[in-house]
Amino acid sequence: MIITKKKDPNNILETVKKYDKFFLIGCSECASLCGTGNEEALQEMTDFLESNGKKVTGQLVPKTGCQTLGTKIELKKDKEACADADAVIVMSCGAGTQSATEIFKDKPVYPSNDSLFLGNMTRFQMFDERCSLCGECVIGKTAGICPLTNCPKGLLVGPCGGMSDGKCEVSPDVPCAWVRIYERQKSLDNLDEMKEVLEPKDWSAGQKPGNLSTRSEKKEEKK
Ligand code: SF4
Ligand code: SF4
Repeated sequence: MIITKKKDPNNILETVKKYDKFFLIGCSECASLCGTGNEEALQEMTDFLESNGKKVTGQLVPKTGCQTLGTKIELKKDKEACADADAVIVMSCGAGTQSATEIFKDKPVYPSNDSLFLGNMTRFQMFDERCSLCGECVIGKTAGICPLTNCPKGLLVGPCGGMSDGKCEVSPDVPCAWVRIYERQKSLDNLDEMKEVLEPKDWSAGQKPGNLSTRSEKKEEKK
């Protein structure tokens, strides 16, 4: 999931100061799990804006904010509230915000969140980064643990000389990713897999902006 955190509402207020009326959009997926785009977060933003003399014309927590067409369809029932707004505040990740940019051709769109990383919820509303979206996954060779993300240097061969007592040199609170990989391979009796030295990565696989079609040829024909 995409991990987001709320921006300082006073900074948002400063950014949108020339507008008076807003439509709010959240997201039922990652941003809801992060508590940054669920109904409660939208209500909190509504209360904040209204206590500062602004008006909220309406709001929607779409099923999947980054699903542009689906969000556009869900917004049809809020046509008047959207038309009445001077600007849109999107309370999801940067992708959801850019869905709104595509949908609202004639209105400015502002994000209320910062998108931080792709990670896992390890406990309720506690998140750890797990994947750097490199475009060519190697964790089939590293015991299911991503060295690119969990090692601050992103080393494909480790540990480096900075490792001490199983901890990373950046902080004694950070376990060395390569010690974790070693320990897991050992517990799985797969240490022989560590004899293979990973090839340098083809970084072009993660070139931006990424695009992909997973449509089958049959679906393409029907289009
Ligand atoms: S190797 Fe790449 S795709 Fe796989 S988890 Fe790590 S960053 Fe993500
Ligand atoms: S100590 Fe381990 S995790 Fe830290 S930079 Fe070196 S190899 Fe990477």
